Amino acid sequence: MSTASMGRKSGKTSHIICRRCGNHSYHIRKKRCSGCGYGAQATTRKYTWNKK
Ligand SMILES: [Zn+2]
Repeated sequence: MSTASMGRKSGKTSHIICRRCGNHSYHIRKKRCSGCGYGAQATTRKYTWNKK
């Protein structure tokens, strides 16, 4: 973890660096990256029951 430059901001940072795409788009509260889609939804993305 290297968040030295973001220590004393307003404290309302919702996005951090995404580990997958490297963009500053990973939402902390949503636990999901808005850039590449990496996050909690990555594991629950397959819905086999929805297949017709
Ligand atoms: Zn990402």
